[in-house]
Amino acid sequence: MSEQVSSPSSEQAASPVPATAESSQPSKVQRYATEADVLALMTNDKFKKFCKKKCGECGCVAFKRFAKMSPLVVRARVGSLWCQKCGRLLCEAHRNQHSCEMEMQELERRRRVDVDAIREGIKRQEEEKEQRAADADALKRAEAGAKAARYRMWKDRRRHVAGISSSVASMVQRWSVQAEAGRKRDRLLDIYTSCNRINLRLWNEVSQPEILSDIDMDAWKRLCRNYADACALTGMVILVEGVELDLRLPWLRDEDQDWLDAPPPDANEVDLSTADPPS
Ligand SMILES: [Zn+2]
Ligand SMILES: [Zn+2]
Repeated sequence: MSEQVSSPSSEQAASPVPATAESSQPSKVQRYATEADVLALMTNDKFKKFCKKKCGECGCVAFKRFAKMSPLVVRARVGSLWCQKCGRLLCEAHRNQHSCEMEMQELERRRRVDVDAIREGIKRQEEEKEQRAADADALKRAEAGAKAARYRMWKDRRRHVAGISSSVASMVQRWSVQAEAGRKRDRLLDIYTSCNRINLRLWNEVSQPEILSDIDMDAWKRLCRNYADACALTGMVILVEGVELDLRLPWLRDEDQDWLDAPPPDANEVDLSTADPPS
């Protein structure tokens, strides 16, 4: 895995376990399981013998200098004369420093626990990182999917209004052709010209959209106004399968397109120049 984890174990391999050479036969070193066992060596009658005991680490005569001391005083210091972990008697030099296999084992155990904890921590961090990345990917895909669905919906709506504008433009053209020459026909031709431009604009929005929403609502409103004007002039409407053309957009609420029901302005007030998209 990562270097952080491998370094403690390589350290461990590099540092030799000390004193294996010194205590070549550790099994022969006498061990004492309890303090009472050691105290039993130090009774008045055995004290001389005790003072000749050897250090469990270096093999020297460990308690030589105690021979002149009172056994009572030495017994009071029993805790410092042996290692309660491995049970060895220890000389002064090795009292605080000896190759205690029990301590080694304990250290080794702790080191393994630490390494395992570090390894576990790193593994968990990596898993969390992967999870976060997967979540972010899923979110990105969902967003892309939603965006694509929105664009498809917009395109459907643009096609819807463009289709109606084609019908309106061609019908207004027909009405203007059928009308008798005069002011009414001139107005119908003007309306047709405007419808035609709007129709081109709306179809362009299907193939090469410029607006960042569904439909060009301004253009659509101008088309509806043109259609209302043409109907008012001719007294005719477009029929679709026998039903009057419905200009309400199915995805909008009726109250949001009530401008469709507004009465047409007086013919004299119609200003067709404002009905044309800017070129
Ligand atoms: Zn020693
Ligand atoms: Zn020890």
